[in-house]
Amino acid sequence: MSTLRQARGWLSAKRRFQFVLTLVMVSALTAACGALLMLPNSVLPKLRAVVPGQDVSQATDPQVPLVQRTMDSYGKVVAESVATGGGRTGIVLGHSGQRADLDVLASELAASTAAVTALWGSDWNRAPVVVVASSPAEFAALTRAVGTVPAEVAASTVADPVRPGAQLTGQRVVFGPEAGRRLGADGLRSVLRHELTHMASRAVTVDGSPMWMLEGFAEYSAHRGMRHPVTQIAPALTARVRAGDLPADLPADELFEPTSGKASLSYEQGWSACAFIADRFGDHTLVELYRQLATGPKDRAAVEAVLHSVLGLTYPDLVADWRTWLTTRTAEGA
Ligand SMILES: [Zn+2]
Repeated sequence: MSTLRQARGWLSAKRRFQFVLTLVMVSALTAACGALLMLPNSVLPKLRAVVPGQDVSQATDPQVPLVQRTMDSYGKVVAESVATGGGRTGIVLGHSGQRADLDVLASELAASTAAVTALWGSDWNRAPVVVVASSPAEFAALTRAVGTVPAEVAASTVADPVRPGAQLTGQRVVFGPEAGRRLGADGLRSVLRHELTHMASRAVTVDGSPMWMLEGFAEYSAHRGMRHPVTQIAPALTARVRAGDLPADLPADELFEPTSGKASLSYEQGWSACAFIADRFGDHTLVELYRQLATGPKDRAAVEAVLHSVLGLTYPDLVADWRTWLTTRTAEGA
């Protein structure tokens, strides 16, 4: 089914990208986050759609004009609005050089939004803004990264600083220029779901929470229900486990840094811990665990206390059962 949907997307790509966004410069605006929110709707730039029935102005996220303005200095901006259910409209923005990636992402946006909602629930905006950068410099500009972004980073999710009690604003998924070439269409879809999961859970996620939970949950969501074999989701981990090299512990936060040399393995371990928990306790319990562990537990004892209260397992028992699950799953090759 997904292949069919994808083929359809490719066939209609030319027609669907036949409109170009125009940006009305609003000189009063600054790059300060939240500035756009204070403007009345009538001041916001109108996005002009050439193809009837595909009016990108349906995308109501107020960050879109600001994102466009940033992107304009890197080339002509093309965009597609996507109905994501419940009367909501997401948008995919990029440049014509990334047209193939844009089409894959646009054709997957509704299904990915629905998949994330099925796992996480409906308490997120569900009208995602997705952007594909045409160069490392544009990627950095769109993610507000300082310095060089490591080439290993395929995509990133950003938001305006979280203000207590206020709604999240400025949330967007940004793909790097090499993402499509390196990942392929199937990989792009997984990364989209991974990043949308971060987007959905951001409002309840405190910085400093255990990375294996944050990244493992996003990875679990990315591959959930896709029937991807474990050898595809976690090749490095599978090879190690098959060689008898089982993890002694859940991966520490610093190992998730792109510069650690162990980031891929750590992501795979995080995915496997979440897949094990979902297998044994169900998706609902995994989501509950995320919600409790994402509150920034102050130390290891606090993490272990949450694991025990949600799963009823001591930490050593959890690790032992996870290792058993890993041995079984990687032996099956499923
Ligand atoms: Zn992530």
